[in-house]
Amino acid sequence: ATEKPPMEDITPNDIFIAVKTTKKFHQSRLELLLDTWISRNVQQTYIFTDGEDEELKKRIGSHAINTNCSAAHSRQALSCKMAVEYDKYIESGKKWFCHVDDDNYVNMRTLVKLLSNYPHTQDIYIGKPSLDRPIEATERLGDNLMRPVNFWFATGGAGFCISRGLALKMSPWASGGHFMNTAEKIRLPDDCTIGYIIESVLGVKLIRSNQFHSHLENLQQVPKSELHKQVTLSYGMFENKRNAIIMNGAFPVEEDPSRFKSVHCLLYPDTPWCPSYAV
Ligand code: UDP
Ligand code: MN
Repeated sequence: ATEKPPMEDITPNDIFIAVKTTKKFHQSRLELLLDTWISRNVQQTYIFTDGEDEELKKRIGSHAINTNCSAAHSRQALSCKMAVEYDKYIESGKKWFCHVDDDNYVNMRTLVKLLSNYPHTQDIYIGKPSLDRPIEATERLGDNLMRPVNFWFATGGAGFCISRGLALKMSPWASGGHFMNTAEKIRLPDDCTIGYIIESVLGVKLIRSNQFHSHLENLQQVPKSELHKQVTLSYGMFENKRNAIIMNGAFPVEEDPSRFKSVHCLLYPDTPWCPSYAV
């Protein structure tokens, strides 16, 4: 196959990865990420949570950010975290902002390859839509005035990325306290609000990528032979069943139900806790 030359030579250090979590998932979810993909990408990863955790601070220092947002799973609490993620990203000066949940595995090598196809100074919003049609929302314009709006958004549970050029344009609707106000205008979750600002307000189209995965899709359909080509993976529940990718890996399903440890050993076989195979 012929590969296009990269548009821009970027390195992992040009990417800011925001991981959204909550105190009650520090042990059950975050630890797995810290042991796997984050361990190889500490410098570009920031954890946005809602409670103090001395152990976490010892491990990643200032990369653990207590948002002081409420620990409730409310629309407001989640928007509060996204607002802090955005502000910290702008402060970082990096070329790309990527958001993931604490049940995502990020393959930094493919992420770098994907983003290097796009100029960070242009308007780029890339991820996977969670619906097969645009979401229909109602925009509140004040004085009881309302207007229907339709737009696509990238599902936060699969991860998405935004170029710096676009992120800067979002500032009047996303920076400081503005994100919370914008979210209230459409009364939808944080990832929808991002889509609203980008598609509806700024008129920039979401670029669809099939390399991002959430547990809202059947993860068994991710081909075993193409695991290394995926940018994000996830695990969880789908239609009331346990949902994870299928792979024969270093660990049995009982020891590694998410398959993240096995994926990590596939991508980074020199990891000390990965069994080394005599081929
Ligand atoms: N989350 C949070 N506060 C909560 C519950 C969840 O910040 O009270 C975060 C969680 O850590 C994850 C994301 O929100 O990063 C999505 O949560 P979850 O996977 O439990 O739900 P989903 O929407 O994927 O079913
Ligand atoms: Mn989830």
